[in-house]
Amino acid sequence: MSLYLDLPVGLGEKLWSHLLQSDVEQVAFVFAAVAIEGDDTVLTAQDHYLAEPGDFEIHSEFHVELTDEARSRIIKRAWDIGTTLVELHSHPGDFWSAKFSPSDMHGFAEFVPHCRWRLRSRPYLAIVVSPAGADALAWVDKSGEPMGLTAIRARGEPDVVPTNQTISDLVTFKAEVPEHGP
Ligand SMILES: [Zn+2]
Repeated sequence: MSLYLDLPVGLGEKLWSHLLQSDVEQVAFVFAAVAIEGDDTVLTAQDHYLAEPGDFEIHSEFHVELTDEARSRIIKRAWDIGTTLVELHSHPGDFWSAKFSPSDMHGFAEFVPHCRWRLRSRPYLAIVVSPAGADALAWVDKSGEPMGLTAIRARGEPDVVPTNQTISDLVTFKAEVPEHGP
């Protein structure tokens, strides 16, 4: 199965300009309709939101965290307009790779199940953008295991193909979680 995120003309550039505007991590959301086309799942942007300074609990060069109010408002909007949620954030200082950090993965373990529960198991797509490229993980089925994104198809711009540096390294992330023996 392939998974695509389709963006209308201009949105790709708008998101990337927001995310890489400075040395500080930024966050944006895309509200996307979900369609199954043969074997493919296609998420098509319907609306978007660029996170503002007041949305952040913590907003530093290396770590960002949205307030509970902002998260809950964004999930509610997705629910109200009948879309799934795509989150994008940036690692502006990573000039060599594009991959999620261990703290990103820790955040997903908590947030993704909550968000999917609120949105009745709709898919959740997370994208990280750096000057070197982009990486993505999607939670689509009920297994709780993430899958890769085939491409971001931004109209009028070249497709963005994720580096897949995170998914090829998931074992490492798992190894970082302490296992409690029997
Ligand atoms: Zn991150």
